[in-house]
Amino acid sequence: MPEYDFDGKVAFVTGAAHGQGESHAVEYARHGADVVALDLGENKETVPYDLGTDDELEATAEAVREHGQEALTVKADVSEEAEVAAAVEAAVDEFGKIDILANNAGIESFADAVELDERMWDELLGTNLKGIWLCAKHVGKHFIDRGDGGKIVNTASVSGMTGIPLGNAHYVSAKWGVRGLTKTLALELAEYDVNVNAVAPGGVDTPMVTGIMEAYGEEMLAESQALSGPWNVFDEEGMQDAQSITDAYMWLSSDAARYVTGITLPVDAGFTAK
Ligand code: NAD
Repeated sequence: MPEYDFDGKVAFVTGAAHGQGESHAVEYARHGADVVALDLGENKETVPYDLGTDDELEATAEAVREHGQEALTVKADVSEEAEVAAAVEAAVDEFGKIDILANNAGIESFADAVELDERMWDELLGTNLKGIWLCAKHVGKHFIDRGDGGKIVNTASVSGMTGIPLGNAHYVSAKWGVRGLTKTLALELAEYDVNVNAVAPGGVDTPMVTGIMEAYGEEMLAESQALSGPWNVFDEEGMQDAQSITDAYMWLSSDAARYVTGITLPVDAGFTAK
């Protein structure tokens, strides 16, 4: 495993209570960063599985502290601008700065495009696209004011690389949007020495996926794989682990990737190779 030097850095991680965000938060700490761990702390009306809890967020903070790093937990909804602005302010009050934005929070729900109700669309796009923009806006402003560069890594998806039916129109739209936003932010923030990239995970074993299986049944996975082929070409029965996404996050947050900006990097166990 590569080692990174994030000593003295502050990473602001959204969706940090469980799943990929938890994995990113703890790994930043393992490489020496202090961490702002943000999560919602309640469920969204249109999400049919459990989102992160306050106890899980606190457990993430404890795991950060076990690596000898400072952790600040913040309860906020990334789709609400006032909450994002307050969260960024709280982080800067606590640590004096932010160096890395891990823009990871996201939700999933399913309905065919002709059946989708407006609330489902708004909640999903609110978190998965507007939320990415709001966090990039407020942390990006901080980067500009501070004048010492910065790193933004957004979470896209393989669903932002193709069309996927099976009730995914809103999710696919949001994730394609994240790719476009990533390219545009990369160009706008380049003069401030800020790198902006995205990672596109395939099927990752997290509470999101297990929750979806419980809510909609295992046949959904079979139907999806009948369309797309296996999610994981290395192991057709298995999914990727969150660490595989975290590894890409660490690289894109480091100066090893200093000439990388505006990309969406598939880390998808061959999903898009087919
Ligand atoms: P998860 O549900 O396990 O974790 C997501 C976390 O984000 C939860 O703790 C949740 O509470 C938090 N969150 C959700 N909405 C929020 C909001 N409005 N404000 C603040 N926090 C919020 O999901 P995961 O699998 O870890 O997903 C992380 C990211 O990866 C998401 O953007 C998701 O779309 C993306 N993704 C996941 C997969 C997969 O197979 N798991 C594949 C591709 C992309």
